[in-house]
Amino acid sequence: MKTIGLLGGMSWESTTSYYKAINERVKAQLGGLHSAKICLYSVDFAEIEQLQHAGDWPATARILAQAAKSVEQGGADFLMICTNTMHKVFHEIESQISIPILHIADATAQQLVRDKVTTVGLLGTRFTMEQDFYKGRLAENFGIEVITPEPEEQTLVHDVIYQELCQGLIKSESKTRYLQIIECLHQRGAQAVILGCTEIALLVQQSDTPVQLYDTTEIHAARGVELALSKG
Ligand code: GLU
Repeated sequence: MKTIGLLGGMSWESTTSYYKAINERVKAQLGGLHSAKICLYSVDFAEIEQLQHAGDWPATARILAQAAKSVEQGGADFLMICTNTMHKVFHEIESQISIPILHIADATAQQLVRDKVTTVGLLGTRFTMEQDFYKGRLAENFGIEVITPEPEEQTLVHDVIYQELCQGLIKSESKTRYLQIIECLHQRGAQAVILGCTEIALLVQQSDTPVQLYDTTEIHAARGVELALSKG
């Protein structure tokens, strides 16, 4: 079994989801007392969040590249960045280490392609919904068209992530608003909706809506386990 490197703490609420999902999958496949080999570096999210909102992405890249080097030195065979948003600095991190990084958008897009989804809605932080590092990758590398929520809906989705989900707060009124926004995306042509923030599945689950959801945490974790248990 390969050792999975995790760059977590963004937020730790979702890193616990990764840790659980990865271990459950390894146990399901290998049985008994088997568990995943994991090397985790968990950052202080307050520092990262301040730099994000100040637009100082180079500083976030320096912190995460340093953390990634620690994970590599800790024996990880490959790295997973446990947040969609911080894939904005994927290339800066990748250039500082020699182990591969399993990109969260690629894992998700591969699943969408398998399911023949060509137009998809995207929920995430404002950075993920607005900027091109994520949507662009889906469009250019996989031919997937991405629909994002209307501006005022984006503000709500973003604020709920930082003010509630990343702080462990699950509110029913936020769940109702998210479900309405998912429905709107569907009516605007989205065949399915990507939960493109690793905390959203703490609020909304597939059983809440008939619209097909793609939970990036679960998909990323599953792909990580597949790679960890693969030969070669
Ligand atoms: N975990 C979130 C994501 O997947 C948001 C926190 C962050 O900004 O990293 O984008």
